Amino acid sequence: MTATGEHTGHQRPPIDKETLRRRYREERDKRLRPEGIAQYRRLTGDLLHDPYQPVQPRAPRTDHVTFTFVGGGFAGLVTGARVEQAGVDDVRIVDKAGDFGGTWYWNRYPGAQCDTASFVYLPLLEETGHMPTEKYAHAPEILEHCQRIGKQFGLYDDALFHTEVTGLVWDDDARVWVVSTDRGDRFTSQFVGLGTGPLHVAKVPDIPGIDRFGGHSFHTSRWDYAYTGGSPDGGPMSHLADKRVAIIGTGATAVQCIAHLARDAGELYVFQRTPSSVDVRGNEPTDPEWFASIAQPGWQQRWLENFTANTMGGFGATGDGDLVRDGWTDIARRVKAKLLERTSSGGEFTVDTLLDAFEDADFEKMEEIRARVDAVVDDRSTADALKAWYGQLCKRPCFHDEYLQAFNEPGVTLVDTDGKGVERITDRGVVAGGREHEVDCIVWATGFEVSTELTSRAGFDPVGRGGVRLSERWAGGMRTLHGIHVHGFPNAFIVQLTQGSNHIANVPHNMSETGTTIGAVVGHAVANGYATVEVTAEAEEAWIQRLLGGGSPLGGLGRGGRSLYVPGSPECTPGYYNNEGQPPTAASRYNFLGFPGGPLAFFQYIDRWRRSGEFEGLELR
Ligand code: NDP
Repeated sequence: MTATGEHTGHQRPPIDKETLRRRYREERDKRLRPEGIAQYRRLTGDLLHDPYQPVQPRAPRTDHVTFTFVGGGFAGLVTGARVEQAGVDDVRIVDKAGDFGGTWYWNRYPGAQCDTASFVYLPLLEETGHMPTEKYAHAPEILEHCQRIGKQFGLYDDALFHTEVTGLVWDDDARVWVVSTDRGDRFTSQFVGLGTGPLHVAKVPDIPGIDRFGGHSFHTSRWDYAYTGGSPDGGPMSHLADKRVAIIGTGATAVQCIAHLARDAGELYVFQRTPSSVDVRGNEPTDPEWFASIAQPGWQQRWLENFTANTMGGFGATGDGDLVRDGWTDIARRVKAKLLERTSSGGEFTVDTLLDAFEDADFEKMEEIRARVDAVVDDRSTADALKAWYGQLCKRPCFHDEYLQAFNEPGVTLVDTDGKGVERITDRGVVAGGREHEVDCIVWATGFEVSTELTSRAGFDPVGRGGVRLSERWAGGMRTLHGIHVHGFPNAFIVQLTQGSNHIANVPHNMSETGTTIGAVVGHAVANGYATVEVTAEAEEAWIQRLLGGGSPLGGLGRGGRSLYVPGSPECTPGYYNNEGQPPTAASRYNFLGFPGGPLAFFQYIDRWRRSGEFEGLELR
């Protein structure tokens, strides 16, 4: 048995690909729902309340600043830092949370930690001199790092917290943006940035009885420590000792907090619709001597590029092997090995060879992940129910060394709904499979609204030149230059994933690069006295055509002729990666466009673009 309680030495039978493909399809079909994303609703009322910090009264702002950024998460912090460094000292970050941190402000559930190695996940490590204490840092350290960035770059001075932007309107005469908020602010800003993030609108299933529950309930992004006891650093939740707790959902969030609930709750019922794939975590404390040896000038950029080159879609080489060596890089390593096997035995390198290599590697990996369930979980039917039957990248891959083990605890019951989900809530508990389970508390681990329009999630719809709304401008699909600039929206910059690198294994890498780009553009405009910066219609169109002309190595292939188990593919089990299995619309195909050659190639391209000082495609006046 291994340190994480896994039995070893099982011999695995050869993989029967056709049987696996059939099983994956059956499991997907079982879960397809005609209502798609409409099966959910947003959090409202008490469930939405900020349990972490009281709202401070303040007077409304009616002044002018040079740069406003909507969102105080990683996107706002890295962009704000770069804009400040470019010489702008009045950067105003606005966020609905009570502090910086974004997702790490809200997600303080027990066990929360980053899933991508801290050395590449946490931005601005080199500039702040922070050494992550673990390979996968826990949430309190990440939140503290966000605060550290805010302090070091002077971003607290002008920040507005517990404030939601309600309107952003371009005034073409004054050449400024007019910003309105739910706190009565109405100020102007020369430049605006949007980094509202994909995972900030929490959702719950819209099932009967949800408002009728007589016990206590909360969403994982609003963890109620006053009710549970304990704290985000993992201290015992002593108030749960005599409580029956239900957790609904088994995605990446639930995988991280279930071991804590299993430890502290009197009884725990885990309601599962689709199991997550849970691979080995292998977290470890950072050895300060080792860190000192790697933390040489330029180290974080080198690690970022190395990680990107070694993950799916990166497909590059930085000449220094695989520095991170974890579950994310393992996926790409296996595909490369399978590809080499096929091409070295005489096969040609074609898209089909790549797809075959991907499928072989993925089947093999998922068989190992399913075998891990058998090796860890004692009860056979529980083990069978915890096995994921889809490609590893179809849903968010998870990594944990105590999740599966929790199901061996005597007070823990897995209520598997065989893809159907929880049916309804009564005043006393949760109904699944026609049976009521009485509980004192329901924890909703049911995720966030992702695949709706950016403007709907943001809660405001920027109005650009000529009164055109961003949602109107994008009615036929998102159109940008580099995923950042939109024609008709001068002096506005968007920080998001697509139409640039589309790098999903380390989202903060995208944001850091985008922040650096925005810092360079704003710094150049301010230093040279330009009032406006805007992408030309021609440059925006040429960029879209360039992206449409060639996909990144694997991105988007699942939506092409041959199906594949990659994020977004309709072949996958429904979830937010593929818009709950709903067919893509003509407009939504633009949401997945990435740079030909993949993320590493994009990062090299954008670095040249910035350094050239010409800012090709932008008109500065
Ligand atoms: P997810 O959307 O991944 O998971 C929601 C869960 O709720 C799924 O298991 C879903 O089942 C289940 N569910 C929905 N409706 C019902 C129902 N009616 N009955 C029973 N179950 C239901 O949300 P998470 O909060 O877990 O994760 C969201 C994202 O946040 C992750 O994908 C990841 O990107 C990010 N994250 C990152 C972390 C990190 O980096 N450290 C940690 C945690 C999250 P089904 O699968 O069938 O839809």
